Amino acid sequence: MNVPCIFCAIVAGDAPSHRVYEDELTVGFLSIHPAASGHTVLVPREHAPQLWDLSDATTAGIGHSLRSMARLLERTIEPDGMTVFQTNREAGWQSVFHMHFQLVPRSDRDALTPPWTETAAAESDLTRMAERLRAAR
Ligand SMILES: [Zn+2]
Repeated sequence: MNVPCIFCAIVAGDAPSHRVYEDELTVGFLSIHPAASGHTVLVPREHAPQLWDLSDATTAGIGHSLRSMARLLERTIEPDGMTVFQTNREAGWQSVFHMHFQLVPRSDRDALTPPWTETAAAESDLTRMAERLRAAR
């Protein structure tokens, strides 16, 4: 038995949400656990657990949807900045397993912090990983 997907229910209108955006491919609604005011979740209408599961059609159009949602927040809220993130699987901090983007309007004065401290990579590690990825294309 499949576990019901809350984002599919929101897309279908079977679960409540504060819907703020929609187009052919996606639906945007306010996060119920916002990192900041206006924090919006943008989901494809198609159920795909992770980014790599999306259909070609959704993949081709979702960038336009993401930009449109970002522009709506930009012109309406006029934030100082915006953080957009997308997570995959539990190890990647995903908690709802229907691929989605999160758009967080930012303020120069907000208390959000980056999730990691930047440290320089070893050149040999970068070279080895780049070779591995290029060989697998
Ligand atoms: Zn779903």
